[in-house]
Amino acid sequence: MNRAALYIHFPFCKHKCNYCDFYSITNQSLKLKYISALQKEIKLYEKNPPFGGFSFSTLYFGGGTPSLLSPQEVGKIISSIRQAFHITKDIEISMEANPGTLESAPFENYLKAGVNRLTIGTQSFNDRDLRFLTRIHSAAQAENAILSAQKAGFQNIGIDLIFAVPGQTLDGWEQNVRKATELKPQHISMYSLTFEEGTPLTKALRLGKVEKCSEELERQMYLLGKQLLQNAGYEHYEISNFALPGFRSHHNQKYWDGSPYLGLGPSAHSYNGQSRQWNIADVSKYLQYLEKGNLPIESEEKMSREQQKLELLLLGLRRVEGINPEQWEKRTGSDLVNQTQKAIKKMGGLAKTASFSPSFEDKLLTTKNGNLCLTQEGLLLYDTICMDLAETIA
Ligand code: SF4
Repeated sequence: MNRAALYIHFPFCKHKCNYCDFYSITNQSLKLKYISALQKEIKLYEKNPPFGGFSFSTLYFGGGTPSLLSPQEVGKIISSIRQAFHITKDIEISMEANPGTLESAPFENYLKAGVNRLTIGTQSFNDRDLRFLTRIHSAAQAENAILSAQKAGFQNIGIDLIFAVPGQTLDGWEQNVRKATELKPQHISMYSLTFEEGTPLTKALRLGKVEKCSEELERQMYLLGKQLLQNAGYEHYEISNFALPGFRSHHNQKYWDGSPYLGLGPSAHSYNGQSRQWNIADVSKYLQYLEKGNLPIESEEKMSREQQKLELLLLGLRRVEGINPEQWEKRTGSDLVNQTQKAIKKMGGLAKTASFSPSFEDKLLTTKNGNLCLTQEGLLLYDTICMDLAETIA
């Protein structure tokens, strides 16, 4: 049986942050109906191959703001999942938690409900940044949430930080990362602020009301953050992700290694190894589909072998360890170096210096322990080189 990942999209938030393009709504009146519909969706997949036949080793409650679910509601959903699917004994069950929803912090009860990993959406320990991002919580609330979760007994806590926020200085970012490492969560993700289409932030940018931070400052922030986290004992294992030894996110690693995943809830995406499908991004329509006993799938796309290879390549290169040629051959039936030689050439060949060394000699790809991976410069330019890879893959 394949070991797959299970994702639940909770589509409600207290407030819509100005930079966010994830599907969520602020009117929570349909929350209870959503939970019943989600349980129906779980039931429908129970008998539906191939997902019904998978064994799930990770479950992730994302959103939206899943911490708007009470521990009892989370427990109810987990028990529906346990009844419908085969799940492994050591399953990782993660839940995203917004510090602004956790005033009475029922952390112990989330633990009792079965959640064993919390991702606390901190974003910054600086109130100015948080106000700019229109987050509903303060830096003090974020810190309290982390401390309370630790006190309640969570031994696997992740936090997210955003850099390149307009107005943020290199010093401000450094204080942020230092504060994060002092609190010692097991996992830290750092993302640069992106300006997504259709968000109020992008509108403000177009109107000249905000100014992006310079590319050079963004680059310095990334390198400084990486260095500080590594100095504090965090392993850099994916472009934006760092973990204390033994605490990498199992769920996200499933995406990066090309494992199948089932996404439930409005707008959730799934991949069964050959094709992708995604649910309708509309809570009311989602409910209507399930009331009629239908899966709420908006569309699906069969992937060609070339598309599957490209996806495997792009996801694999996100990992600092890169792609193992033998595993690649087993999965795709092709030779990794032959497959990527045009791309390697276009990127200046393979660097001879150690990967992630700052002296990269202008090369973006290298080999490390026999694996093909990006150099430090390649990691910095990942988004841009994805397009080159798509064009040049043989
Ligand atoms: S809380 Fe999270 S999901 Fe909700 S709007 Fe803000 S960033 Fe988006």
